[in-house]
Amino acid sequence: MILPPATLGMLGGGQLGRFFVIAAHELGYRVVVLDPDAQSPAGRIADQHLVAAYDDPDALNRMAESCAAVTTEFENVPAGSLAYLSKFLPVRPSAEAVAISQNRSAEKGFLKQHGFPHAPYTDVRSEADIAQANAGLFPGILKVARFGYDGKGQVRVQNREEALLAFRQLKHEPCVLEQMLPLDYEVSVVLTRDAAGVVKCFPTAENSHRHGILDVSIVPARTSGCVAGNAQEIAEGIAQKMDYVGTLAVEFFIVRGQLFVNEMAPRPHNSGHYTIDACVTNQFEQQVRALTGLPLGEARAHSAAVMVNLLGDLWYLKDPHHSHEPDWAKLLAVPNLKLHLYGKHHARPGRKMGHFTVIGSDAQKVQESALAARRLIG
Ligand code: ADP
Ligand code: MG
Repeated sequence: MILPPATLGMLGGGQLGRFFVIAAHELGYRVVVLDPDAQSPAGRIADQHLVAAYDDPDALNRMAESCAAVTTEFENVPAGSLAYLSKFLPVRPSAEAVAISQNRSAEKGFLKQHGFPHAPYTDVRSEADIAQANAGLFPGILKVARFGYDGKGQVRVQNREEALLAFRQLKHEPCVLEQMLPLDYEVSVVLTRDAAGVVKCFPTAENSHRHGILDVSIVPARTSGCVAGNAQEIAEGIAQKMDYVGTLAVEFFIVRGQLFVNEMAPRPHNSGHYTIDACVTNQFEQQVRALTGLPLGEARAHSAAVMVNLLGDLWYLKDPHHSHEPDWAKLLAVPNLKLHLYGKHHARPGRKMGHFTVIGSDAQKVQESALAARRLIG
């Protein structure tokens, strides 16, 4: 067990890393953040910020010397860096688990191998793979295997010809071609698993996206308890099969009451931000606890919650050429609303700048209040 005031290492300095730093500080730990951006949200509040690339040998060695354990806040950190660090100190989640979730081909292969439900797909490495793809995969979505996020690196294709064009447009990067499913809605499960295999699942969230970016999460999900429970069971099964240690997110599609795993994230997740204000222990504190070997906390929600993302677009509503800080006072006047801003210097359209969560005992009222709150600023 790693006790405070030990120093913990975080690879990545985005908002997820920032919430980790806050949770670690609350428990009396120190945090070293590695991120090449000198202005990164987590780096700016860390005890130490190593401004260097994720595979910089000096920075990794300094991290190994000063930290008792290391974790990550995004899946695109080179798995090689995690493997290197694991020679010197505990790294959770493991390089292997991160390697699976950072590559859509490996991820889908993992789901297939272990019998977890997923959309029909095929790996695409050459134009011949598209020529030979099963006709049932169209209409489909061609997704780059690596580095896609928030709907980036994806092209919707009606037929084989469009898939070929899209593959060329994606510069023949390795891809997966996935059948387009008629989604009824989407849900996600965030859970934490400790080194002894104990799992604590947060309540299933119902998510809606705008332009491929998470927009709103509603908890409890407006679905049958059966679907919500099955999603938790599948997510737990995935964590066990990966021998995962840390906080893990699993996204699902729901089609006619049936669950399909969409993707995994080896870290806390945007759709788990509601846990900060609505759960006994939040997803970031759980990440700290799993990393240090402390007992996991209670994951129960004490309130219904609706989380609304605040994208950079909001900063340009008054003037498309100059950013203006939205009127936070209006939002903060809403009862039971909690505002979280990530301290990012520049607002850009599509960039996640913050979020707010409305909590309460009546799920219907919370939803109405959250939607009314959003109208106040946009
Ligand atoms: P990202 O890494 O960008 O989150 P996802 O694979 O989760 O990529 O896709 C983003 C969104 O696009 C999903 O949340 C869903 O709304 C939609 N989408 C992705 N794949 C499919 C599919 N096979 N069928 C229908 N909609 C999909
Ligand atoms: Mg996704």
